[in-house]
Amino acid sequence: MEKIIVVAIDGPAGAGKSTVAKIVANRVDIEYVDSGAIYRAITKKMLDSNIKIEDYSKIEELLKDINISLLNGKIFINGEDLTPFLRTKEVTELVSPVSNNVAIRHKVNEFLNEYSKNKSIIMDGRDIGTVVFPNADFKIYLDASLEKRSQRRFLEKTTNMSLDDIAHSIKKRDDNDKNKSFGALKVASDAIYLDTTDLSVDEVVDNILKIIKYNGVKV
Ligand code: C5P
Repeated sequence: MEKIIVVAIDGPAGAGKSTVAKIVANRVDIEYVDSGAIYRAITKKMLDSNIKIEDYSKIEELLKDINISLLNGKIFINGEDLTPFLRTKEVTELVSPVSNNVAIRHKVNEFLNEYSKNKSIIMDGRDIGTVVFPNADFKIYLDASLEKRSQRRFLEKTTNMSLDDIAHSIKKRDDNDKNKSFGALKVASDAIYLDTTDLSVDEVVDNILKIIKYNGVKV
């Protein structure tokens, strides 16, 4: 059996984490897991169930009732495919404050650990190298200037927000993500920090592949 490897990619919104993680996953032939999608799916479920962030007891009830599953890049809660709703404006605006909730974070971390048992994966998020997989084989922190990250989101054309509005929304999310009491966005002490402001996707992928290859993984 090939050696099992865990690659943790953390960083702020728009740093290119999911784009490069998917390519690296393909090149190394391991599974890609988007941890942010789980927080987004729970946020969608809360919106649908009309549960507010401050309804702690209702959130705890909801968490007992939900069964998360991933299949072919899609995310299901209790068998319902929530993938089409993950990037809507209302979910994107609410997901960061929702993910401050420690009970939700425990539920997501438990799922991620269970799901990734005994297989090689590359996972992106905010606290993968610090909390979810503190013993990951490779930890990469991807960063870029706020201006560059906003431009990238603007060029993706997945929203009709102006460049200024995108920058404002990303900054608000980053500030909240960096200041969480548990699972805050930060650079793990043993992570490799990559500033991607002036790098292309290919250059970032090459950098990550070099790091992995240098450590003996076949790419
Ligand atoms: O990665 P993505 O932008 O989809 O993540 C959405 C939100 O989910 C982030 O802004 C963050 O608040 C939360 N998140 C988190 N921990 C993770 C992944 C995402 O708190 N590991």
